[in-house]
Amino acid sequence: MGRFTGKTVIITGAGSGLGRAAAEQIGSEGANLVLVDLNEAGLKDTEAAIQADSPDAQILLQTADVAKEDDVKAYVAAAVERFGRIDGFFNNAGIEGKQNLTEEFGAAEFHKVVSINLDGVFFGMSHVLKVMREQGSGTIVNTASVGGIRGVGNQSGYAASKHGVVGLTRNSAIEYGQYGIQINAIAPGAIMTPMVEGSLKQMDPDNWEEVGKSFVEPNPMKRFGRPEEVGQLVAFLLGGEASFINAAVIPIDGGQSYKY
Ligand code: NAD
Repeated sequence: MGRFTGKTVIITGAGSGLGRAAAEQIGSEGANLVLVDLNEAGLKDTEAAIQADSPDAQILLQTADVAKEDDVKAYVAAAVERFGRIDGFFNNAGIEGKQNLTEEFGAAEFHKVVSINLDGVFFGMSHVLKVMREQGSGTIVNTASVGGIRGVGNQSGYAASKHGVVGLTRNSAIEYGQYGIQINAIAPGAIMTPMVEGSLKQMDPDNWEEVGKSFVEPNPMKRFGRPEEVGQLVAFLLGGEASFINAAVIPIDGGQSYKY
């Protein structure tokens, strides 16, 4: 019996990167999965990766834009209709946005990043929490970032949205602990996913792998994190062993955020 046998877990941003890695880990441990992403092809690839190892995994795919509250309502309703409850929620979908000075960032880009990274996390929590409060149990992990606990630079929208995710996490955790619900955030450093590859390519399209090497040089562990390392942390937080951790923001960054 896995840690997630009989449990239902929703994962947003499950079509790639950290969401996919968490889905593979949690799916391998017996969960019923509701996988949410804007990118349908990415979702299908994640489903195939899980089924390659766990052919009996129960998986519901939901194409949705987390920045649209009606889409969020729909994926939460679909999860309850199919599986009857929601035990875990990895509220993770996000984008990085452009990298430039604040004066050049622009209102449209700012609102786009905030609407996905912050509105999306808020909509997800507000609809999932209703279900969890009725159940009297549940665990949520929101994806913040090192950029949500430290200034990184050249990321106005990202920094504002991820600091907002930290605030939402702490606020709601204080409200919902009494109902048997834990809410935590993770703050990943640089983990090698398509998002980070895209970010390195923004810096130098022709030489991005070299840029990556110098990027991780200041990290105490001198490397990028791996998506599966984040998947393991999320599974720990959602899987029942972290039963007295609440309102925490947990860095997973090789120690980098303590070095700035
Ligand atoms: P990724 O680009 O590999 O995956 C993100 C997924 O989110 C994609 O499948 C994308 O289609 C989906 N998505 C984007 N906008 C969406 C929307 N509006 N509605 C639904 N789905 C949407 O990136 P990743 O690195 O796996 O990032 C996942 C989360 O982790 C993000 O919130 C990101 O900010 C955060 N994060 C990543 C890193 C890192 O180094 N990779 C570091 C800190 C935080």
